Amino acid sequence: MSVEILRTNGRDEIFLADTIAGIRAPAFCDCVFPRSTDVLSFKGNIHDHISCKCGENEGRPLEWIWDKESADPACYVNGRNITFHPTFSQGTTVIRGEKRLEPGMIHFWEMKIVTSLSGTETMVGIGTDKVDLFAHRFRFTSALGLDNQSWGFSFRGKAQYNNRSIFYGKPYSQGCLVGVYLDLSRGYLEFFLNRRSLGIAYKNIPVDPSVKIYPMTCSTAASSAIRLINSTSCPDNLEFRCMRVVAKNPDLLAHLNRMPGLKYLSNRYWYLIPYQDDIDDIADIYEDAHTIKHRAYLIDSEDEFDDLLLDPREFFYFFCDH
Ligand SMILES: [Zn+2]
Repeated sequence: MSVEILRTNGRDEIFLADTIAGIRAPAFCDCVFPRSTDVLSFKGNIHDHISCKCGENEGRPLEWIWDKESADPACYVNGRNITFHPTFSQGTTVIRGEKRLEPGMIHFWEMKIVTSLSGTETMVGIGTDKVDLFAHRFRFTSALGLDNQSWGFSFRGKAQYNNRSIFYGKPYSQGCLVGVYLDLSRGYLEFFLNRRSLGIAYKNIPVDPSVKIYPMTCSTAASSAIRLINSTSCPDNLEFRCMRVVAKNPDLLAHLNRMPGLKYLSNRYWYLIPYQDDIDDIADIYEDAHTIKHRAYLIDSEDEFDDLLLDPREFFYFFCDH
């Protein structure tokens, strides 16, 4: 078993790398992705070597892409694709979306993790226009959630805000789909992993229209690649709320899909419709996010607690955090 000691924001954190890898979420599909050793030897763009298109371009075309203009020129940012630190890494790069997320709207976007992840950090999340994208350029850190201007979900499974991290979901890596559901009507932030909700992570997202919020992602890992595969939004109106109800009822949903004039709604609100493996869990997914959070951390045996070297009481403390 290998032990990795990280210094994050002045604090030492010890990770049991092999154990973390053991509980990592599986890839979304069975496609073959390049090995880490192959990635380092690739000439040109890593994204050109990825044949997997699974889960891409659901519903409608991308509403936004990554912002090349504000990005660290040392990184490769091209539309939906990002390659962090293509040659070597000196610190943490933060990339944000090309436009602010409109207030009062429901936003959902999804990223495919193209390469295996290692090193100090890779995160997805959101941040305000107050976030300095270059502040950690020469420092290895968990940049999203270091203060009260950003919120992040780490590849190690932790969520972070205001310099406090909590255990939230499984670690993720190559082949995983990581989704972000942001309700700027109520101020809720929720992450998805391989199309499954991990429950509401934060309920303190500013809904004041004067606060400009952007999608963000960051990484310290050399030659780490992420692809934006979906980005959509909708107003929090009666149609959306009706679809939330219909989506969790298979009979209603099947009825809607049989009506030619309404079938388009399944396409527009595809992210509300449970992933097919979750058909039996619809009530859990939509009626009690905390149930999902508990389920996400239910473990099969005492041995797993031993492996994690965590006190079970500590393991569950965060469920009362918000
Ligand atoms: Zn695939």
